[in-house]
Amino acid sequence: MSHHELYNDDGTTDHETCPRCGDSYLGEYGDRQHCGRCSYTEWE
Ligand SMILES: [Zn+2]
Repeated sequence: MSHHELYNDDGTTDHETCPRCGDSYLGEYGDRQHCGRCSYTEWE
């Protein structure tokens, strides 16, 4: 997994990019991350 130094509006840096979209960020929803563009979901 490549590491990206990415910053969100609130200063967090732990957001991951969507493996499908590539340039879209995954939103955090409790114990999973969800892409709002393609609906890809990743469980931790
Ligand atoms: Zn996506």
